[in-house]
Amino acid sequence: MVAEPGGGVSAEPPKARHIRLTSHSAAAGTPTIQWAAPSAAERGPVIGTTSTRAHRNVIGTHSGSYSVYRALAVAAGALSPAHRADLTNTDPTDVIGPYPQWSRPETIVSLDPWGAMVSEAFAAELAAGYDIRPTIAVTKAHVIVPEIAAAMAAGRLHPDGRVLLENGAALVTKAAIEPVWFLPGVAARFGCTETALRRVLFEETGGMYPELVTRGDLEVFLPPIGGQTLYIFGAPRDLADPNVELTARVHDECNGSDVFGSDICTCRPYLTHAIEECIGGAQRGGVGLVAYSRKEGRALGEVTKFLVYNARKRQDGGDTADQYFARTECVAGVQDMRFQELMPDVLHWLGVRKIHRLVSMSNLKYDAITGSGIEVGERVNIPDELIPADARVEIDAKMAAGYFTPGPVPGLAELKITKGRGLAR
Ligand SMILES: [Zn+2]
Repeated sequence: MVAEPGGGVSAEPPKARHIRLTSHSAAAGTPTIQWAAPSAAERGPVIGTTSTRAHRNVIGTHSGSYSVYRALAVAAGALSPAHRADLTNTDPTDVIGPYPQWSRPETIVSLDPWGAMVSEAFAAELAAGYDIRPTIAVTKAHVIVPEIAAAMAAGRLHPDGRVLLENGAALVTKAAIEPVWFLPGVAARFGCTETALRRVLFEETGGMYPELVTRGDLEVFLPPIGGQTLYIFGAPRDLADPNVELTARVHDECNGSDVFGSDICTCRPYLTHAIEECIGGAQRGGVGLVAYSRKEGRALGEVTKFLVYNARKRQDGGDTADQYFARTECVAGVQDMRFQELMPDVLHWLGVRKIHRLVSMSNLKYDAITGSGIEVGERVNIPDELIPADARVEIDAKMAAGYFTPGPVPGLAELKITKGRGLAR
């Protein structure tokens, strides 16, 4: 039974029909994708439409994990499966690139560098009836954060009417990016064969995308995962100029701290510190960047994260820094699933060649960025006074495991002493 638009329920789906299998080759004339080709025309459009199956040249569909909500909307009768986006006035507020990195096949493998300029680059294909959707959108915003107001009140930041207004609003350009994976390139990043990657993606998602194993001719996958959001302080074009000071943080989602202010980790304090550093940098004539990745709880998800919190706080001896990684590994099987291997792609999309001030202590992020050929100058740690008391466990454990710190690295004896709050208080 399915709900009807008017709120009623019918016994039949909106249109009873045969299931449309996806194991057939694309129709003759469907544009092909030549990944990393030097121009949009030679690269070809990414077509993930579900309305005209014969036009598809990728596995999966648009909007990442939200593709499931779209399916629900169709199932509920609220959305026509044939709906096509009207892209009038949706063009980016700022043009990004093209940059030389876009045509190096090993440099960008997890997003479509041409994803923001679809209506311009593929106007002919759109006019010919192909349903081509942007995978990147670029817009403008005012960002108002209490910690920035506090920095202004404390005299650390001053409004300039350009980057920061009197009312505490920071002026930003922001970009949303959906994942677009070039499977041979992703496999190479992780040191496995493309065949192995396809098979494991198919099997470990419960067989969600049969084309991973049946359609070797399709090399591009739109995975059902979260994407990235960029906040740019200053002129976006300056990101590609190594002579302009770039302050940057690459931040992984932590809903509990980022949004709700939960004090067991340093995520929000580090994020707002980075925003303050980015504003200050942009006011000095530089440019600032916060790249925010939807990788909640080390990409383990919040349920696993909260299970780990309980395991940490209930273990014998309490929540001590020496057991921090062990407890995660007990529940999740690994310490971390964020795998920073794909993270630098977004920096290369922006044309970044040098980060003068990297607002991060993570050795994994630093190694991924420098390993991808981007120079890093100074590394900016979170100031001690911004670390919540209960988050001392996390930060001490991470510093002992290799996180950058300008101070002494805690030893095993100290890690046993660093202890977090219990569950009772
Ligand atoms: Zn956190």
